[in-house]
Amino acid sequence: MKRKITIFGATGSIGQNTIDLIRRAPDDYDVVALTGGRNIAQLASDAKALRAEIAVTAYDDCLADLKQALAGTGIEAASGEQALEDAATRPADWIMSAIVGAAGLKPGLCALEQGSTLALANKESLVTAGPLLMETARRNSATVLPVDSEHSAVFQALVGEDIAAVERIIITASGGAFRDWPLEKLSKATLAQASNHPNWDMGQRITIDSASMFNKSLELIETKEFFGVTPDQIETVIHPESLIHALVGFRDGALMAHIGPPDMRHAIGFALHWPDRKHLPVERLDLARIGALTFRAPEDARYPALRLARNVMETGGLSGAAFNAAKERALDGFIAGEIGFLQMAQVVDATLDKLFAEQSLINNEISLDNVLQTDHLARVRADEIIRAR
Ligand code: NAD
Ligand code: MG
Repeated sequence: MKRKITIFGATGSIGQNTIDLIRRAPDDYDVVALTGGRNIAQLASDAKALRAEIAVTAYDDCLADLKQALAGTGIEAASGEQALEDAATRPADWIMSAIVGAAGLKPGLCALEQGSTLALANKESLVTAGPLLMETARRNSATVLPVDSEHSAVFQALVGEDIAAVERIIITASGGAFRDWPLEKLSKATLAQASNHPNWDMGQRITIDSASMFNKSLELIETKEFFGVTPDQIETVIHPESLIHALVGFRDGALMAHIGPPDMRHAIGFALHWPDRKHLPVERLDLARIGALTFRAPEDARYPALRLARNVMETGGLSGAAFNAAKERALDGFIAGEIGFLQMAQVVDATLDKLFAEQSLINNEISLDNVLQTDHLARVRADEIIRAR
């Protein structure tokens, strides 16, 4: 029987890798919905090639172009936040959540409400509302599968294992674009330099977040929320080769490492075929040619985002929503040239301080309303802090 598939963020880096896998086995899937942003040409051409039922753009001002591009095909076109949520409630067996940012949360929750399997690339959903997302999945007997490469690696290392036997989880980090730069130079890092990842080909926002290690910060929180371990069980280590994606340490001292090429089609494909393992078109590693894998501890001074993530993990509650929103606003600011590279972490730090000082994070109930309110307030405060500079 064909599986019904929907892809949120279909035009992005994860979305396109997902489509690459699906197009290799077109008889296995019926595509329900594809969603995107302003890249209407890509969205329409994929919707036609995959014979989707509906294509949705996040932006109302793009709808006319989308309708025109799909005219005569019988494929529906829609736009806006409500249309995204409606698309998530169309019956589908497997839904890829690959919108970037907190905007991915609501469609993901809608997909879980209908009991679908959610392949979760959108780490921001877990950072902002982990307990809500996981509880929604439990309540609806829905499955959440991690697609972030590190979390897919941990998930795979845990197959057949008891989570109670886990002592620690080690998330590896490439160290990003500036891992070898002299610290004094970091304040001058440009947008183009931060947008160039040494090992992975990803969307621009996550690439910059890799240079600042905000991506790893989100991933530490994601680890806590997804696997239910405590903050002190989660470690990170710089591994410049990006071949080991994560390691799980068990109480008998064994470490299980997941090794693979830096190609997101592995983690996406694992989630697509889970619980089976099927052939995937990724490079087979030649370990003798690779020769050596290296590791080093992350320097606190280079990566202040890691310390901020530790505070968020310890604090819990709505601090994850505030942290992510402040990070998104600071990243917008860096992309727009409002602030420098190092100021991103300063803005996030100052935003959290402000929100704690005014007792805005005191309500710890992680409901959707509270998360959205906190997200909004953190963006307002981060914006004020950026403008005051
Ligand atoms: P991307 O920027 O390449 O694509 C993002 C997608 O989301 C696009 O389709 C875009 O149109 C859509 N989008 C953007 N803003 C939107 C909004 N406000 N509402 C609705 N749709 C919107 O991003 P990406 O690199 O593919 O990353 C997607 C998610 O996957 C992120 O959460 C990222 O952290 C995570 N992730 C990505 C990679 C990777 O290799 N790219 C690896 C691990 C995790
Ligand atoms: Mg990752």
